[in-house]
Amino acid sequence: KIIDVVADKTVEILSYFEIDAGNMKPYSQLLIDANEALGKMNVTYEQLILELKRSNERMEMLAIELQTANEKLRELATKDGLTGLYNHRYFQEALEKEINRSLRNKTPLSLVLLDIDDFKSINDQYGHPVGDIVLKGIADALQKTVRDSDLLARYGGEEFSVILPETDLKGGAMLAERLRRAVEAEETTTEAYSIQTTISLGVTTYAPSTGNRGMAEFIIAADKGLYHSKETGKNKISLVNMSTG
Ligand code: GH3
Ligand code: MG
Ligand code: MG
Repeated sequence: KIIDVVADKTVEILSYFEIDAGNMKPYSQLLIDANEALGKMNVTYEQLILELKRSNERMEMLAIELQTANEKLRELATKDGLTGLYNHRYFQEALEKEINRSLRNKTPLSLVLLDIDDFKSINDQYGHPVGDIVLKGIADALQKTVRDSDLLARYGGEEFSVILPETDLKGGAMLAERLRRAVEAEETTTEAYSIQTTISLGVTTYAPSTGNRGMAEFIIAADKGLYHSKETGKNKISLVNMSTG
């Protein structure tokens, strides 16, 4: 009421000065209009905030999905499907890097190659799917035995490799023997069978002092040890000294 009285008075005052007040709305109406406009603005502002929040959440979800997809892709590219261990390609890349690191830092680097003994007879006796279960069981036993700094990979078929950074031949031999014992103690039990196997291993050490001998030569040396183990009775480790062949 006061506001409207003021408005009337205003018109009156304006007329004294012969100023046209025009089509002036009552102040109370102006106040109502202004409040309404303000209310609408508040609603749209709140809606905007809400939409922003929603689209942020959507973006975060997409980012997580993308990250998961990337991780899966990387896993598919570097890991072996049956055992979950690193695949041959990853092993080759890692070995190349470790050889360079060993040369640079003048630290020893050991390599273990191993192969399951008489695995063909397990497949023949129990069938390929059971053979797969045994293979996976051995992979798990090997993984449990290696140290965090060692890199275990499925080299191929029923052969595995372990890269041992900063490890000399003596340390490599110790780990190889632990692996041999772990597999010997491992029993794969299915509903119908309990299967035990053994492995043969070859160990060699990359000696930076003998110069850059290359990755192939390193693998061949470990392989030589592995075959020596096979030829001399299996379920054993053989050491190969690279500098003396
Ligand atoms: P040795 O002691 O001399 O190593 O004898 P072995 O029978 O283990 O060697 P051989 O090379 O004759 O046989 C290896 C077998 O491993 C043959 C192959 O079918 C089997 N094998 C390789 N990869 C897999 C696999 O992923 N799953 C199963 N079930 N068998 C596999
Ligand atoms: Mg074999
Ligand atoms: Mg083999």
